[in-house]
Amino acid sequence: MAELEAVIFDQDGVIADTERDGHRVAFNRAFKEFNLNIEWGVKTYGELLKVGGGKERMRHYLIREGLDKNIEDVDTLIKEVHKRKTEIFMEIIGEGQMGLRPGVARLVRECHDANLKLAVCSTANERAVNTLLRTLFGEKGYGWFDVILAGDIVRAKKPDPEIYNLAKEKLAVSSINCVVIEDNRNGLLAAKGAGMRCIITVNSYTQSEDFSGADLVITSLGDVGRDKTEILAGGKNLTFEGQITVSLLRQVIGKEK
Ligand SMILES: [Mg+2]
Repeated sequence: MAELEAVIFDQDGVIADTERDGHRVAFNRAFKEFNLNIEWGVKTYGELLKVGGGKERMRHYLIREGLDKNIEDVDTLIKEVHKRKTEIFMEIIGEGQMGLRPGVARLVRECHDANLKLAVCSTANERAVNTLLRTLFGEKGYGWFDVILAGDIVRAKKPDPEIYNLAKEKLAVSSINCVVIEDNRNGLLAAKGAGMRCIITVNSYTQSEDFSGADLVITSLGDVGRDKTEILAGGKNLTFEGQITVSLLRQVIGKEK
């Protein structure tokens, strides 16, 4: 019988809203430093996220808005702005200018207290992932994570299950005893490809994606009395008390497929 042994978190969009509150803000500050009259709002940035890669995203926007015609050397400018943007992003996360999403701190602590194994599996670069986790959880909380996998540790990125298969090996658990918490469809496919249970905590940039196949879809991990969460799908036969708890994760592990 399946029994909950490990909880694996994706980072971007699950632990923190890194796109909306980190990368977007860093882009805007870099644009300002370079005297470019560009400011990406939350909604605009959501559309631009369809273009993968920061440099590609900038190029797409400059061309779309016809701004590239006024720039002498577009390639060099993009490269320089992107370099500065990356530095600013590291400042934002290192200085704690970005907070945890609701319920994350509580659930991580509960998992630790319940002697569950904890992991983070992210496609973001290793330095950014470790800096963010250290800042948001403090040294003590950071130490609770048994496995942190980031960046180019795997060859095939999500939706390929490689990163979750590697996590399972490093955690020394079997996949049926793991719950993955993701925020988007690629993450869901990766978790399911590795044979794991998957809970989706949606955010403003992923809420309209197709989450069929997810074991549970919720608006956030939630904190009773502070940040309410709602079940969007998969709540049948679960005892839900307004936030995601270890007891609820155990129910998710044990539920019928
Ligand atoms: Mg994510």
